Amino acid sequence: MIKFSHYIYKNVMSVFSTDLKQTEDSQVETPSRKTKFDYNPRFLEFIELFARIGADSRLFPKKCSTCGREYKSFPEYIHSTESLANGLADYSDVLDVPRTMQYRNCRCGSTLTITFTKDVYPLLDKFWEMLGKVSKQSSRPLPEVISEFREQCSRYVTEHDPSQSGQ
Ligand SMILES: [Zn+2]
Repeated sequence: MIKFSHYIYKNVMSVFSTDLKQTEDSQVETPSRKTKFDYNPRFLEFIELFARIGADSRLFPKKCSTCGREYKSFPEYIHSTESLANGLADYSDVLDVPRTMQYRNCRCGSTLTITFTKDVYPLLDKFWEMLGKVSKQSSRPLPEVISEFREQCSRYVTEHDPSQSGQ
């Protein structure tokens, strides 16, 4: 796992959290009851949209064809599968319909692929554009930025799983 430091995001976080679906402690500066995490503000809009996928019937339930395990929602998929290196790939240039593939491993070891098209994730173009910009502006390689995004997105989706929090 890649370890992420806090970077400089702390200071700008409060600007970005206005129209998000808030949990009570998200804007509080004092240490909150749970581990507080500073999401990259440039990622947040996109992370939230991924979180909203939830149990989108176009993607879920997702069944592992090897072991038969069923993943009912995106949070469950994120939570119960294992992240893979380079597990998020943009295929907008090579295929007719732009799509983004996410690969994660089922507990049985088989790879489960989720395909995001614009129907499911309307900001697909902007998403890759944003990653490219962040990479350029911070002089970090794109895969590193993608990894960071995935890390934060997984964290957010798991933390904001409606079926877990009772919201
Ligand atoms: Zn499986």
